[in-house]
Amino acid sequence: MRVPSPNSPIMSEANPPLDILLCSPRGFCAGVDRAIQIVELALKKFGPPVYVRHEIVHNRYVVDGLKAKGAVFVEELDEIPDTDQPVVFSAHGVAKAVPEAARLRNLFHLDATCPLVTKVHREAEIHHRKGREIVLIGHAGHPEVVGTMGQLPPGTITLVETEADARAFQPKAPDKLAYITQTTLSVDDTAAIVAILGARFPAITAPHKEDICYATTNRQEAVKRIAGGIDAMIVIGAPNSSNSQRLREVATRAGCPLSMLVQRAGDLDWPKLAVIRRVGITAGASAPEVLVEEVIDAFAARFAVTVEVVTAAEEAVVFNLPKALREVA
Ligand code: SF4
Repeated sequence: MRVPSPNSPIMSEANPPLDILLCSPRGFCAGVDRAIQIVELALKKFGPPVYVRHEIVHNRYVVDGLKAKGAVFVEELDEIPDTDQPVVFSAHGVAKAVPEAARLRNLFHLDATCPLVTKVHREAEIHHRKGREIVLIGHAGHPEVVGTMGQLPPGTITLVETEADARAFQPKAPDKLAYITQTTLSVDDTAAIVAILGARFPAITAPHKEDICYATTNRQEAVKRIAGGIDAMIVIGAPNSSNSQRLREVATRAGCPLSMLVQRAGDLDWPKLAVIRRVGITAGASAPEVLVEEVIDAFAARFAVTVEVVTAAEEAVVFNLPKALREVA
């Protein structure tokens, strides 16, 4: 279904009433949109197969759609045979060793790293050049963190995941410290960690402009606006999507009694949702709008729904495509 105009009733009077508060912005950000376009345009220009290292974005629906068009997903370059076909690096970014390995094998690669992740990579390099010790606030094992830590030699960047880590951190030179962050963190958790680091090391250098990206910040802000006045929050996104997980946590902390992360409408836990009268819906930055519509449809099949859009920010960010693909865009 199309998202209906605000306050439009959708279903019959026989069903119990349900107010849906639809967060805006939600779903695709400019970095995800660009990454998907890169794979689609590469398929158009070079034909299948187009190899993609790691899920291009963390969403199974998107990945399956691209697979059906001829994309082949791998975790590492050594799974790719010698080929002239392109290899795309995912939106999360990669360690420096990855393009280097592609170069050594003469693989033609297209980099779909979000420009806002690349900005963090460049910050790390500049701090390193200036002789600063670097703290990265982020989650161990997330591909973005692996990629950012891999911009510099091993041992150069210290990962801080929690407030306890920030309290325990012992720098080699406290007066030559800098921090950078993952782009998809909780704004509030990160502020608490930064406050601890700032109190312990007043000279620590902060990013010129926040590393948590505009899309993460805006989606969390929209959730905070409604979370205190709803019975449940549905976050559409993948379990391995950092920004989707953060949206679920933000809703819970902002007072929502039931916050669910679902990949598709089929994951909705109807027994838990039976008595709700007001529900919030949002989607992580890698979840397409078609899945939001699917979830609204599922509610409309069981309730007499009205939909109100709650807007926290307007977004008009667009990122340039790689040169090699602009002519087919
Ligand atoms: S969530 Fe932010 S950093 Fe990640 S792809 Fe989207 S805009 Fe880029």
